[in-house]
Amino acid sequence: MDSKFFSMKYAQALKNLIRNVEGDSWVQSERTKTLFEEIRASIKNNVDQDRSFWRPVLPWGGVYTIKAGRKAISCTPLYVKINLKNTCTIDGFLMLLYVILREKETFPREVAIYLGKDFVEHFLYLMDSYDYTTVKLLWIWDKMEKQQYKSQIHKAALEIDLFGNEHENFTKNLENLMSTIQESLCSNWKCPARFQEYMQRMIKINPPHEIPNGDLIQTAVDEFFCPKIVLCEEIGCDGQREFSQRVFCHGPPPFVILNMQLWKSEELAYVPYYLDLSDHRYSLEGATLFNKEEHHYSAAFQIDGYWMHYDGLRNDNLILLNKPPQFLLLSSLVYIRATEN
Ligand SMILES: [Zn+2]
Repeated sequence: MDSKFFSMKYAQALKNLIRNVEGDSWVQSERTKTLFEEIRASIKNNVDQDRSFWRPVLPWGGVYTIKAGRKAISCTPLYVKINLKNTCTIDGFLMLLYVILREKETFPREVAIYLGKDFVEHFLYLMDSYDYTTVKLLWIWDKMEKQQYKSQIHKAALEIDLFGNEHENFTKNLENLMSTIQESLCSNWKCPARFQEYMQRMIKINPPHEIPNGDLIQTAVDEFFCPKIVLCEEIGCDGQREFSQRVFCHGPPPFVILNMQLWKSEELAYVPYYLDLSDHRYSLEGATLFNKEEHHYSAAFQIDGYWMHYDGLRNDNLILLNKPPQFLLLSSLVYIRATEN
């Protein structure tokens, strides 16, 4: 099938889904608390006793049943439900994104600059309505590229399989959120490309070559942002290339994701609570964790200083931890911009 046609169909289906959801939920929208407030209240109430949240949040996978009707019948090929598989590659980040958006009043407006106002509004609405399968479909159809996941029709069901890497499925699709730019000038007047500009969409930090003491993560971040002088790599040029300080293209983003896949657990013995990024202070909000044996991702985040662990596969999938988690199986660290004083 023509993939363009297929994705247009998806987009239309998504719009219908959201319309249906919004139509149905007027009745139940009496709920006064957001999911975030519910979680926060549950932390306050059960610090000692039962450590799990009172209901499942964003369970692994998902089934969306398409209501029978003229629209479903006219749909070619015909499928009556959508099955989602291996969603842990987006689940943890969706949970973190939700917590971040609810953490500060100004964040939804700020994140909307990158991800779109409609997306942010629908995302918050669906999360607060506990409509978790639709939230995942919103991410898949609105943010992911068709080639980033597998889909097939199987016995009248559309099956979408998100098996893979969470940075491919999530971090890559955050538009220009973390885009930075760095200029450089070569000292050699005859350099074939004297002035250059480098744009990077991700914050790439590499583990140190030798193991020095101190804050390795901050050191690696500094290395990414700081000015530096290196030998020019243009062919036939022996000049020195001076790089300016790297800056965010659209100002300091509300949150950043550091990809920690290349870091070994001994390098992660110390994870800083505060991080200085391009003259702005960020604080640790959460992390995603990767279990290699099970090829499974989970997430940890904090609310009001209490750490929670989210794992979509567990029955009680959101639990309160009695101390900050061990960050030994890190896939990413997530920092939010701290309030400026
Ligand atoms: Zn040069």
